Amino acid sequence: MNLFVEQIRDLEDIYLFLIWNEETGQAVIVDPAVPQPALTFLKERSLTPVAILNTHHHPDHVGGNLSLQKVFPKMKIFGAKHDSARIPGITDHISEGEELNLLGVTWKVIDVKGHTLGHIAYHVNQPFVHLGQCQFNHEGRQASGELFIGDTLFGGGCGKLFEGSYADMLVSLNRLQSLPDSTRLWCAHEYTEKNLWVARKILPKDSQLEEHYQQVVALRKEHLPTVPLSLEVERKINPFLRSHDPAVQASVGQKNEIDTFRALRDFRDQF
Ligand SMILES: [Zn+2]
Repeated sequence: MNLFVEQIRDLEDIYLFLIWNEETGQAVIVDPAVPQPALTFLKERSLTPVAILNTHHHPDHVGGNLSLQKVFPKMKIFGAKHDSARIPGITDHISEGEELNLLGVTWKVIDVKGHTLGHIAYHVNQPFVHLGQCQFNHEGRQASGELFIGDTLFGGGCGKLFEGSYADMLVSLNRLQSLPDSTRLWCAHEYTEKNLWVARKILPKDSQLEEHYQQVVALRKEHLPTVPLSLEVERKINPFLRSHDPAVQASVGQKNEIDTFRALRDFRDQF
C-alpha cells in the first residue's frame, strides 16, 4: 500500500502537508494555516480527511482547523496535550511517545519543545510517495521515513525560541538527529535561503555550506521549494545541528554545545 505526500503553499511562505491513500480516498492534513488550499486539493482528488495533525498552537499552523472541521465534522484533530486550550477544535490530546494509527501506518509523536512548549513532531518510519520534486534526495537513495517537524527545524536554521529555553531546543534538535540520515524533513516554512545567507556569515569558509547555498539560490530563482529537506544534508550544512562541531564552536568563540547553540540562535535573531 502506497501513501502519497505533497506540500501545498498555504500562505506566502507557509506550507501545509497532505498525505493520502489513493485506494481508500482517505487523507491526513498537517498544519493548515487557512482552509482553502487544503479544500481545493481534497476536492480535486476526491479525498476525505480523517485527521488534522497539528505540530503546535501558532495561528499559521492551526488557523484552518475550525473551518475544515465544519466541512468534515467526523475528522479528528490531534494536538499536544500541553496545548489543549490553544488548539482550536482539538479532539485528541497527545504527547511524547504515543503512536497514532492513521491511513494504515504508525505515526510516532516526538516531543520537540523549544519554539513553543507544546511543540511536537510526527514521525512515520516508512517512505511516502512524493509526486513533486525532491531537491535533496540523500545522494540518490530513497527516503527511509518522513518527519513532520513544524517550526522546530528549517532548512539551514531552526525555529525561534518563543516559549522554550535554549537547552529545550538543543535537546529537541539532538533528538531529531538520532533519526536515520535518510529521513525526509517536512518543515512548515520556506526560510532556507535566508537561513543559509545568515549561516554563511558564521561559516564563510565552509565549502559544503557555500555549495548548498548556491543550489538553494538557483532553486528559489525558479520559485521551486526547498522542502522537503534531507536530514543527511541538514546535518552537514545546518549550523544549528552542528553545535557540537569544533569548527562551528570556534566560529562563534565558544567551547561547548549549549553556549554555541545560544550564540548561533542569538546571531540569527539579529536578521
Ligand atoms: Zn510557530
